[in-house]
Amino acid sequence: MTGPRAEAVANDPLEGLAGALFRDMGVDGVYARTALYESVIDQLGGFISSQRDPQAEVLRFPPVMSRKQLEKSGYLDSFPNLLGCVCALHGSESQIRTAAERHSNGGDWTTSLAASDLVLSPAACYPVYPLVAARGAVPVGGLWFDIAADCFRREPSRSLDRLQSFRMREFVRIGSPGEIREFREGWMTRAQQLADELALPYTLEVASDPFFGRVGQMMAVSQVQQSLKFELLIPYYTGASPTACMSFNYHRDHFGHVWGLHDERDELSHTSCVAFGMDRLAVALFAHHGLDLARWPATARRALAL
Ligand code: ATP
Ligand code: ZN
Ligand code: MG
Repeated sequence: MTGPRAEAVANDPLEGLAGALFRDMGVDGVYARTALYESVIDQLGGFISSQRDPQAEVLRFPPVMSRKQLEKSGYLDSFPNLLGCVCALHGSESQIRTAAERHSNGGDWTTSLAASDLVLSPAACYPVYPLVAARGAVPVGGLWFDIAADCFRREPSRSLDRLQSFRMREFVRIGSPGEIREFREGWMTRAQQLADELALPYTLEVASDPFFGRVGQMMAVSQVQQSLKFELLIPYYTGASPTACMSFNYHRDHFGHVWGLHDERDELSHTSCVAFGMDRLAVALFAHHGLDLARWPATARRALAL
């Protein structure tokens, strides 16, 4: 890798990997991915698909979603600092031309930008809840989804485990509190088995989301007290502070309440998601097993059909 990342990460044990996995695109946390890297992402995707509940509905979302839907979901209360909004030049031909020409003249065209009806999706699962609510009552036994999206979070960093643009895969469950509990508990065990199969070291810990500001700190404490979030953490190398590569999130009836999701007896639905950080998992695999896929541990090769 060359460019600004190269100097900053010169002492990073992962630096040897970066050159084989990524190409600089001029912005921290936004990288072009090599064929080697993508081949592992593809195999990892297949491995995760093989874990999907047979009843799950598969949906793939684009990297943008409705701004109104995200606002209604409460995202601005929790993570306003991470959100990216799609802005565009609006107005007449001459207004747009004037703004664009400001750039040619060495000025700033971006002062004419105005928000559009889109945001960059900060997590894969937000669009699924309004989509389900629009179908009417949640059927007996609840619902399963397998979803994925390219996600954006405004958290520029030079670390390979904190990207601004990254892939998230999620298994989402919508149902009664009991159904959600079963799903979550089942997945917390399953996830550890997956990490074992991939021959990756891990810990499973209660976690909190990085809620914004001082009020956010209280939200984080309450989230931990109620054990609403767990993370599967993987240290990328000996002595590294571990990276959250999967998360297990229990939203209780938050999305049920926001979107009017309810069952046939009008009880508010509860929701939960298991999120796989595809890029974080792929980097973890390379960090532990090296760049030569033929020399990866047999169990990982079998799991990934390499
Ligand atoms: P962290 O505490 O490390 O910031 P998070 O709590 O913000 O993680 P989640 O909101 O649970 O993460 O996102 C789901 C998954 O998406 C995470 O478990 C992780 O694997 C992945 N992920 C989150 N943020 C990033 C990022 N900036 N770059 C790459 N992957 C990410
Ligand atoms: Zn989710
Ligand atoms: Mg985060």
